[in-house]
Amino acid sequence: MSSLQKHPQSCPLCAGKQIGLHRWFDVDALKADWQKGFGFEPFSRLGIEGVAHQFRCFDCDLRFFDPATTLAGDGEFYNELSSRFSWYYEKDKWEFDVAAEILAGLDGIKRVLEVGCGQGHFLVRIKNRYDVKGLEFNPQAIADCRAIGLDVTSEAMATLGEGSFDVVSAFEVLEHLPAPREFIEQSLRLLRPGGYLLFAVPDPEGYFTEAEKVLLDMPPHHVMGFSKKAFKSMQALFSLKLEQVHQEPLRFAHYRSYLGNFLAPPPPPRKPSFLDRVLYRLFGYQKERDVELKRLGERVTEMQMATTFQSAKDKLVGQTHLVLLQKQ
Ligand SMILES: [Zn+2]
Repeated sequence: MSSLQKHPQSCPLCAGKQIGLHRWFDVDALKADWQKGFGFEPFSRLGIEGVAHQFRCFDCDLRFFDPATTLAGDGEFYNELSSRFSWYYEKDKWEFDVAAEILAGLDGIKRVLEVGCGQGHFLVRIKNRYDVKGLEFNPQAIADCRAIGLDVTSEAMATLGEGSFDVVSAFEVLEHLPAPREFIEQSLRLLRPGGYLLFAVPDPEGYFTEAEKVLLDMPPHHVMGFSKKAFKSMQALFSLKLEQVHQEPLRFAHYRSYLGNFLAPPPPPRKPSFLDRVLYRLFGYQKERDVELKRLGERVTEMQMATTFQSAKDKLVGQTHLVLLQKQ
């Protein structure tokens, strides 16, 4: 990939030709950010270099990095992320609660498929009420799901029977896929007429759009962005009707990291004063004292953030939104 990126010919969702350059990121800078933030950088191994360009379709409002196939992470990348960070497969997600509630309000739901089910946290939650199946690529996650009795396989969607599900759900999956149109077509094929698609994705108009760089919202992690307008556009592109849209409220942890983008980095360690040296000679606790001071500083900052959080909730949009679409 070169920095002289060719403008994409058409939108990967609606095939429209009206496409604008939205944002771009220097890959060398991203490498350094990843190394600092996550202790590794995936770009070199994946052969991603130069500049990563994000485009926006003026017809359907899809935001997409291009070429998405080159920029999307592979199985090894996701193994690395999930094995390094236990938070990667969160057990309690806002969208799981909302999705379970939506399902409970729909009539005639028996078979539910979840694509990209991870460790099966959502399926476990609903398995007593529905006949559930999960698809997943991560071998360790599949093993974890099977160990708790879930029907989870690495089969491709194309191998499953036409019209065999009442609901096809995918949480935090669409934004990772280089070919969104094909994914939605496959999902529709698996649904019986009148069945439902349940998708949760990061809202490209959420709080993090204000932050310059959110590393996990760009390649090789996310390659697509779906706004509410993009989901509305799907009604004209597929035989679908947008039935429900839900927005996650701003979370405190997200507000804290959002503010972190604007806060100055901590000052460099200062030169020990005469008093520090005397205390160190006598008691040797200089380091512990510094740690204590840092903790105190963090607690104060945290308290200040908590006081502004309530008003921020009215102004900043949360991270995730969830849609329910019905097959016509
Ligand atoms: Zn489009």
